[in-house]
Formats: sequence, C-alpha cells, structure tokens
Amino acid sequence: SQDTITTDVVIIGAGPCGLFAIFELGLLDLKTHVIDILDRPGGQCAELYPEKPIYDIPGLPVVSGQELTDNLLEQAKPFGPEYHYNEMVEQVQKLDNGNWQVKTDGGLTFEAPVVVIAAGGGSFQPKKPPIPGIEAYEGTSVFYSVKKMDAFKGKNILVSGGGDSALDWTINLQPIADSMQLIHRRDGFRAAPDSVNKMHALVEEKKMIFHMGQITELHGDNGQLEGVTYKSKEGELTKIECDTLLPFFGLTMKLGPIADWGLNLDENLIPVDTEKFATNADGIFAIGDINHYPGKLKLILSGFHEAALMAQAAKRIVDPDAKIVFQYTTSSSNLQKKLGVA
Ligand code: FAD
Repeated sequence: SQDTITTDVVIIGAGPCGLFAIFELGLLDLKTHVIDILDRPGGQCAELYPEKPIYDIPGLPVVSGQELTDNLLEQAKPFGPEYHYNEMVEQVQKLDNGNWQVKTDGGLTFEAPVVVIAAGGGSFQPKKPPIPGIEAYEGTSVFYSVKKMDAFKGKNILVSGGGDSALDWTINLQPIADSMQLIHRRDGFRAAPDSVNKMHALVEEKKMIFHMGQITELHGDNGQLEGVTYKSKEGELTKIECDTLLPFFGLTMKLGPIADWGLNLDENLIPVDTEKFATNADGIFAIGDINHYPGKLKLILSGFHEAALMAQAAKRIVDPDAKIVFQYTTSSSNLQKKLGVA
C-alpha cells in the first residue's frame, strides 16, 4: 500500500547494538529504519543506567550509558537513519515477493528484504500496580505512559509513583490539567532533587495536592474513572476524586511479540550462527542480548562485533550482485566519503 515504508533494513530495537548496526550497514550503503518501544534511543543503557559508568567499551576507558548512546547516534548520523520511537513491533511476516513486512502497534508498516532483531531483553513494559480491576480502566482512564500531552488537557489527573517519570509528568502535566494530584507511599522520592523541589513548590502554591499512601480501590463505570481509595501507613482509608490515573512504577523487560514471529527460540533467546548471526528465517538476523550461540557473552562489545558480521551477510541479500571489498575507514576514501569526512 501507499503507506508502507520501504527500506533496505528494518532494525528492531534502538539499544547500543541496534544503533551500531546502522553504522555497519551504512558503510555498505544499506538504508535503515529503526523502531523502538521506548521514547528515546539507548535501550538498557538509557533506560536502566544512563548515569552509571561503563568500563569495558573498547577504547573508551569510562563512558556513561547516556554518553555511549549519544556517541553511537553521532556515529550513525552520516547514514541518515530514520527512527520511530514509541512504536512496538508486533508482526513480522514474509511477503510473496520474498521481502519482510513489519507492523507496529502504532499502525506503521515497513517492507524490507532484511530485518535485524536487536531487541535486547525484549520489550520494556510498564510494571502495573496490584489494584484489583485496573485492567477495565486501561486505555480509557489509566495510562502507563504519556504519548501525547494534549490527550491530558483539562483532566483531573492522579499520578502514582515516586521516581523520575512520576515526578516529571506531575510537573509537566500540571499546567494543562484541570487538577493535579500525586500519590506515593512515602515522603521520600527516587527522583532528581530538582524535580522533587518543583513538586513541593507546586503543593505550596496550592496548584496540586500530594497524598501519602497506596491506592487500594478504583471507583467508576465502563472504564471511566471517578476516583480512588487509598490507604495511609496507619491504615486509614481516604477517597479522592480524579478521572485519570497515571501509575509510574518502572519498567520490566518481557520478550513480547517476538515469540509470535515463527522464529526458533531457546529460553526466550534467538539461536543464531556465529558467521552471520542469522536466525532460522531467511533475511532475519539477531544481534546483541537477544541472540544466543555457544560462548555468547551478553556484553555490548559482543553486539558490536555481531553487527559488523551481520552487515556483510545483509548486503549479500539486499544487493546480491555487489562486490564487497574489504576496506579500512582509516584509508578508504570511498568509506570516508560516505562518512562525510573526505
Ligand atoms: P537493549 O539495550 O536491551 O535494547 C533493546 C531495545 O529493543 C530496547 O530499547 C527495547 O525497547 C527494544 N525492543 C524490544 N522488543 C521490541 C519490539 N517488539 N518492538 C520495538 N522495540 C523493541 N554491558 C557491558 O558491555 N558493559 C557494562 O558495564 C554493562 N553494565 C550494565 C549495567 C546494568 C545495570 C545493566 C542492566 C546492563 C549492563 N550491561 C553492560 C549490559 C548491556 O546494557 C546490554 O548488553 C546491552 O544493552 C544490550 O544491547 P542491545 O542493543 O542488544 O539491547
């Protein structure tokens, strides 16, 4: 159809290994589109430890998860990759013409001869609070992420949680909400001190209310929330009104839809060979934490090596007649032209 995005390679996952794959494929003139569930690149490095130092990236004695991500983006830039964030790949299907069709939950469709799965530990998914019946409100009154702020204009919002996401969204949505409340089980927060201060200031200016306790019950009808009951540490129950609940309890990794793509799996990992990092499906490769082979180490540097070898095999699929010449970036004016440095 008209809406299908066609490209040489679709990369599923914008973690460090997916990002480096853009570079290796780019050196071989392969165009890439990169898809990730998260709202930004970096995978585990950006989501789980942006500020922690990594000490075993070759040639970088110390680099934080965020710095490594930024450097990988910079390195990939000359190849003009296109990134699609907030999109979960749900379907990967073989077409009659031999290409792969990739579909996301946000309605995007891609077609490419090669798919690279760089999905790490799988999809990051929100941890849900254990409130009975919460499913009935999901997608109408209860949301685990904010995709478009506009959707929350004029709402009576209750944010639940004490981390950075909870604090950030409390502060960012307060000006457009009709009313804003935050609930957390204690008065201590695991968020940037600056955000905590801003929140306290809003409370002082009576622009929002902070409650201490845990939500025990939701009230409403047909998925439309009208309020919640929460329990304080002393066991006291309080009912408050709200029409929107945003719980931010962190993320966990689950394999997700990858299990349905007809690929061989071994304990939630994708078995590959060590020459091409190919899966059992022709044209689908798997690199980084998601793959498995004898001797595999779940290290970023392993994924980088896997990306380089995978790219050679991908080139042969996309462009079977091309002669692949081994070249160094140091001395090849051809590669330097592609990198925009010659
Ligand atoms: P990931 O970083 O996991 O990225 C995968 C991406 O794919 C995610 O963003 C996910 O949202 C996306 N995704 C998954 N499924 C889908 C789907 N269906 N649709 C769309 N997107 C999808 N390694 C080191 O080498 N050195 C270290 O010092 C080190 N320290 C670490 C410290 C911690 C605390 C942790 C948790 C890990 C550490 N690691 C370290 C491991 C390292 O982070 C991983 O090896 C690396 O992130 C793997 O990269 P990846 O690109 O394969 O996958």
